[in-house]
Amino acid sequence: MRIDLHSHSTASDGTDPPAEVMRRARAAGLDVIALTDHDTLAGHDEARRAAPDGLSLVTGMELSARLDSHSVHLLSYLPDGASPELAAECQAIRDDRIRRGQAMVQRLRDLGVDVTWEQVAALAAGGSVGRPHIARAMVAAGAIAAPAEAFGPDWIGAGGRAYVSRYALDPAAAIRLVRGAGGVTVLAHARGHGRGWQIPDEVIAELAAAGLTGLEVNHPQHDAAARAALADLAGSLGLVPSGGSDDHGELTGFRIGTEIAPQGSYQRLIEQATGGVPVMAGDAGPG
Ligand SMILES: [Zn+2]
Ligand SMILES: [Zn+2]
Repeated sequence: MRIDLHSHSTASDGTDPPAEVMRRARAAGLDVIALTDHDTLAGHDEARRAAPDGLSLVTGMELSARLDSHSVHLLSYLPDGASPELAAECQAIRDDRIRRGQAMVQRLRDLGVDVTWEQVAALAAGGSVGRPHIARAMVAAGAIAAPAEAFGPDWIGAGGRAYVSRYALDPAAAIRLVRGAGGVTVLAHARGHGRGWQIPDEVIAELAAAGLTGLEVNHPQHDAAARAALADLAGSLGLVPSGGSDDHGELTGFRIGTEIAPQGSYQRLIEQATGGVPVMAGDAGPG
């Protein structure tokens, strides 16, 4: 079984609509794909309808949390989308993304970069607004040559001149929230977000004690040493070792299916979720 448990669509900051993510997932030879847009379940209806034969869809999202000013991302699988508590928190996070995006655009304008909120909102196309959208607007304005340059200290990298922090949940609270909605959580890219903080072992142990289910071991930004260390840590803490491509479409160079979950992990994860079950092509359900 080839299983990629981390992907993004235009429901957040990916460049492909959910249906196209499903098509590419199958074309990449995957049996299972999790669609994990930031702080939203909004892409799942379209993804469900589009899931090709032979592909199972795991409904999920990547929930934004923060610890001591560091960003912590929690992949959340199979929560009950009808949970009012979860929906309210996601709405609060998304609302704040807009406030924050507008504030960063204003700072960039103050720095002489000709970007507008209208332009950034158009790039987000109704999905969760994130820094990648601002980065793309900066490229369009000619301020930088490639989106990655935006994430340095000169611009919108953490602590950068135009950076604005945002509302995010405490990670332990986020884990409980997802658990309360019947879902399971996996700590994403603990050792290689490329933008700074490496989440220490002690913190991962605390999150395990708070109810974390898994640890993302296979991720494009994890080198071999990080994977080995995280797999060991997962074993010693009783966490499920997981993996996924964190594909964002064109933004990340179409890498869906290039990272997969270790064998056996998928079953261990989904059997602990009570909020939903993976969707196979054909069971479109009520949506
Ligand atoms: Zn992330
Ligand atoms: Zn991600």
